Amino acid sequence: MTLLKRDPNAPSAWRDEMQVTSRYTFGIAGERFFRAIKDDQQILGSHCNNCERTYVPAAAFCERCMNQLDEWVDVGTVGEVVTFTHLYVNYDGSQREEPETVAFIKLGDGGLIHRLVSSGSHPVEIGMPAKAIFKPSSEREGSILDIVHFELITN
Ligand SMILES: [Zn+2]
Repeated sequence: MTLLKRDPNAPSAWRDEMQVTSRYTFGIAGERFFRAIKDDQQILGSHCNNCERTYVPAAAFCERCMNQLDEWVDVGTVGEVVTFTHLYVNYDGSQREEPETVAFIKLGDGGLIHRLVSSGSHPVEIGMPAKAIFKPSSEREGSILDIVHFELITN
């Protein structure tokens, strides 16, 4: 089936393999951001003194004033749930046995989108604190998935 004859209601994605001949880098700020996660279990932001904003993930330039950012801030591993959703369907369209929760966790003046789990029975609520849980150091690769998930702090 060609793209021109396909069902207009069908999803506009398909799975296949693609040869990649170029290499993507994280850039200067991304390199430092992911290296801190991998090596030190730290989440770094970069701070703009003009705008008094701390970018998370760290950025090389302030998006407001274009100031080059070279002040690095450890924003800690506990953030705040800003919003969340429950996923009942897997990426392949099949039903999940248990829903997975994905949340935007505020850190600094930005944040990360990641899996969110609750070890207790407390339901997720906006504004709750959540802590990043890291893989063991021997398994970390310099990826956002070096954080296994965020865990709700309910006490
Ligand atoms: Zn700025």
